[in-house]
Amino acid sequence: MGKENDSVNDFSFPYSFSKRGAKKMSQLAESKGIILSSRNYKEKDKLVKIFTESAGKLMFYVKGIHRQNQPLAPALLPFTEGIYIGTFKSEGLSFITSVKDVHSFRKIQEDIFLSGYGTYLLNLVDAAIEDHQYDPHLFQFTQAALQRMDQGDDAEIITNIFEVQLLQRFGIAPIWTHCVVCGKTQGKFDYSSKYGGVLCEEHWSMDHRRYHADPRAVYFVRMFSAISYDKITGINLKDETKATIRQLIDQLYEEYVGIHLKSKKFIDQMKSWEHVLKKPDPEGESASENQKNE
Ligand SMILES: [Zn+2]
Repeated sequence: MGKENDSVNDFSFPYSFSKRGAKKMSQLAESKGIILSSRNYKEKDKLVKIFTESAGKLMFYVKGIHRQNQPLAPALLPFTEGIYIGTFKSEGLSFITSVKDVHSFRKIQEDIFLSGYGTYLLNLVDAAIEDHQYDPHLFQFTQAALQRMDQGDDAEIITNIFEVQLLQRFGIAPIWTHCVVCGKTQGKFDYSSKYGGVLCEEHWSMDHRRYHADPRAVYFVRMFSAISYDKITGINLKDETKATIRQLIDQLYEEYVGIHLKSKKFIDQMKSWEHVLKKPDPEGESASENQKNE
C-alpha cells in the first residue's frame, strides 16, 4: 500500500527514528506471528509484514535475506507462523533477531488453489486493520483459518466464513440471527441494506430493494456468521450453492467494504480453470445441505 512505500523511501538503515525521537523506539519483544506478505527491498534485503499476536501488524526490515545460509529465510516464507523475536517498533520498521517454533503451512504453500485462497485471506486481514493495532482475536481467527485450510477442509467455505465474520472489522455488523422486523429465526430470508439485516419471507415486501439473494445462500451466510472453525467438518456444499454464497458475499463486500484485491480476482478466475486440474467431486449431495429446512 502507498503509505508503506513512502516510509521505505525515507528510511535509512539502521538509524530510523520516529518523529518523536529515539526514546520511543526500541522494544525488545517476542510474539507469535503469521507472515502476511514480503517483498524484496534493495538487492539483498526484504520487507516482511508480520501479523503479531501481541503488537498487531508490523513491517520488518530483514537484511541479507538473499544470502545463502540466512537462518531466518524459511521463517519468512509466505504461509509460515512462528515466534518472532526482535525489536518491535511502535512506528516505522521493526527488526527480527531470531525465530523459534517455526511452522509452515505446507499444503497451502504447495497447492496453487490453496495458496490463492490463503493469499486472499491474508490480504483481507491486511486491509481490515491498521498497522500496530492489537487484535489477538483476529490473530487467532486467522491462524485457525490457515490451520483448517492446511488440514484439508474446504478452502472456499473457510474463506466464506472468514469474509462474513471479518465484516465486523470493516465496521459493519449485519443482523443475521433473526428477521429484523418480527424476530423470526426459521424459514427463508433475504438481506436488506435498509434494515441492516435479514428479513423473513413475510417481510420481504418491506424492502423492495432487498438483495433478492438465493435463500440457500442466506441460510449458509447466516450459519457462517456464527460458526467456529472447529465445527465445520462435514459441511460439504454443491458448486451451485457455493456460487450463490459467493454472489451474496460479493454483494455485501461491494456495498460495505469496497476494496478490490488482486488476490480476490485471482480466486474468481481460478474457478474457470480449476476443473481442468482437479478431479470432479464424486459425491454430489451432502448431508448438511439436505438438513436445511425450508
Ligand atoms: Zn419477519
